[in-house]
Formats: sequence, C-alpha cells, structure tokens
Amino acid sequence: MKLRTCPQCGSTDIGPDRLMGITGMRYKCNNCGYTGDVIVEQDVEKKFKK
Ligand SMILES: [Zn+2]
Repeated sequence: MKLRTCPQCGSTDIGPDRLMGITGMRYKCNNCGYTGDVIVEQDVEKKFKK
C-alpha cells in the first residue's frame, strides 16, 4: 500500500486537485496548500505498525 505525501511539508493529507481539467492530474496538500503534479509516495506498511 502506498501513501501520498506532500513534498514540501511531508503531510499525508493529500487530495486530488483537478484544476487543470482532463489534461493532467494534480494533487493538493490540505496542510500547507501545496498544489502540483509532484508528490511523494511512501510505503505505509513500514511506517505504521498499528
Ligand atoms: Zn504540504
């Protein structure tokens, strides 16, 4: 399982942002307000052991 994280603040509160319409998928960070098509995917299983 992969988890999307913000490249700026590292928050996992990332949601899809479709401002560009159908041409491209962007992501929006609900923590710092970052928007862009660059996100960091992390392996959740290694980070959360709950
Ligand atoms: Zn952020």
